[in-house]
Amino acid sequence: MKKGVIKLKGIPAAPGITIGKAYLLDSEQISVRKRRIKADDIHKEISRFKDALSKTKEDILKIKEKISKEMGVEHGEIFSAHLLVLEDIMLIEEVILRLKKEKVGIEYVFLDVLKKYVNVFSKMDDEYLKERISDISDVGKRILKNLIGVKTRTLSNLARPVVLVAYDLSPSDTATMHKKNVIGFVTDIGGRTSHTAIMAKSLEIPSVVGLEEVTRNVKNGDTLIVDGIHGMVIVNPDKATVKHYEDLRGKFKKLEKGLATLKNLPSETKDGHRVVLSANIELPDEVPSVIYHGAEGIGLYRTEYFYMNKEGLPSEEEQYQSYKLVAQKMKPHSTIIRTLDIGGDKFLSQLDVPKEMNPYLGWRGIRFCLAQPDLFKIQLRAILRASVYGTLKIMYPMISGLDELRQANAVLEEVRNDLKKKKIPFDEKIEIGAMIEIPSAAMTSDILAEEVDFFSIGTNDLIQYALAVDRVNEKIAYLYEPAHPAVLRLIKTIIKNGHDSGIWVGMCGEMAGDPSLTFLLLGLGLDEFSTSPMLLPEIKKVIRAVTLRDAKEIAKKALTLPTGREVVAFVNAKLKEYVPELAMEE
Ligand code: PEP
Ligand code: MG
Repeated sequence: MKKGVIKLKGIPAAPGITIGKAYLLDSEQISVRKRRIKADDIHKEISRFKDALSKTKEDILKIKEKISKEMGVEHGEIFSAHLLVLEDIMLIEEVILRLKKEKVGIEYVFLDVLKKYVNVFSKMDDEYLKERISDISDVGKRILKNLIGVKTRTLSNLARPVVLVAYDLSPSDTATMHKKNVIGFVTDIGGRTSHTAIMAKSLEIPSVVGLEEVTRNVKNGDTLIVDGIHGMVIVNPDKATVKHYEDLRGKFKKLEKGLATLKNLPSETKDGHRVVLSANIELPDEVPSVIYHGAEGIGLYRTEYFYMNKEGLPSEEEQYQSYKLVAQKMKPHSTIIRTLDIGGDKFLSQLDVPKEMNPYLGWRGIRFCLAQPDLFKIQLRAILRASVYGTLKIMYPMISGLDELRQANAVLEEVRNDLKKKKIPFDEKIEIGAMIEIPSAAMTSDILAEEVDFFSIGTNDLIQYALAVDRVNEKIAYLYEPAHPAVLRLIKTIIKNGHDSGIWVGMCGEMAGDPSLTFLLLGLGLDEFSTSPMLLPEIKKVIRAVTLRDAKEIAKKALTLPTGREVVAFVNAKLKEYVPELAMEE
């Protein structure tokens, strides 16, 4: 490789290879001169400010409408939070007050007040307020540009296709992103199961996260190779490297094409053992992709998006309409709706959640819902009402033991009784499941299995809790080992306990989408694999390449290995042996 070429290793977030020009998010610095004004001009400056505020409001409303039309209302709702910033009386009054006192150009005063706000909020170390910082600076920049007449570039109107380079991406960034002009993205922070990485897969844009210093090593216009398969980013590659990656991209595309032909074939092993392949979604508008990739259901419908970046809490009606739509579109397949799982890296704007020292161990998931039964009941009512339009299932996140499961079921029972009393129809046989993502739940899964219809293993959290490794911290990402013997033993226990009680066991964590682990999970008896739609064909190919007998042998042997590293080497070798075309060389 040529001297001066920078090669960065990060965490693969969405597979695929992209070669393109870098575009640094937030790199445009707007310079503002300090301009003295006369007392007579104060009035004029205030009216310029007010014009800029209304122009910004118009701009945001237009974007909101466009995004809602193109990508669904949930994406559009993100901009409601931006509109709220525009109506922040305190900020507006402070700007006008200082303008009158200091008699300098309005743009200078505004920028100064904006910086002060961002500074104060950034020191607060509170996830809710941190989200507000990006809203405030987003809107602030728009106002400033309107004041000085600079045209705003958004991710939806970029002039040419680019590779986005950012410290992190906010939900508003991902909402305005389009495959047409964002051909890849790379970020400094984030882990394999962070929200950004999960969004990358659902958008199907090759990306690498957790690169630590990519924003420091890349300039606007640099050529970047993003290898979302191996988690590599190469800055300003030489010709030979470009050629190597073009070949790799060709191989990947060919593989994808071949995989697409599997769409209508069953997900069964060579000896006829059938498993269910389902998809994970966050928004109803991902359903076409779910169907396109041949999923036989939705194994995890994350519902946190309803509560993110919006004015007020989502109503029962709003949720009901979305659940109904998904149920209808997925029919006859089933959809598992996971009840609200706030907390960890999924923080919500409208809920008053206090700052915590250990948010992943704190007030999250079912704990939060049980403490807010009214909010929980609204969601359960919406799901139950929608259940007559298809096959819906309810799944509780973060169950740690039997008491919690019973409490959740008791709230559900209240809602069911209330609906019955009011003669509102719902599917009385609706299946209820528990996510098994806490080691205590895994170890007591024999007890829990008696009171639910299914389990779904949430490996994203299970791994972090079992190994004490924060799932979004790139510094310790090397310790986040899905194939660690401790994790494998927990998974084995959950599946066995589920089966002994006669219930089915699925997996909806990212581990279900890793083809090198498919034989192992099959061999342990997993009944359902649920993952990002784009990964499903690959998993199906692996399932169809083996007999259940061989998969069981592979699982048996893998469980005797003493370290995750050895398990990885063993299962990779098996993948290469059975499905050589999937073993992508670097
Ligand atoms: C998990 O923990 O594995 C999971 C699927 O849930 P989430 O990633 O939303 O926490
Ligand atoms: Mg989880």
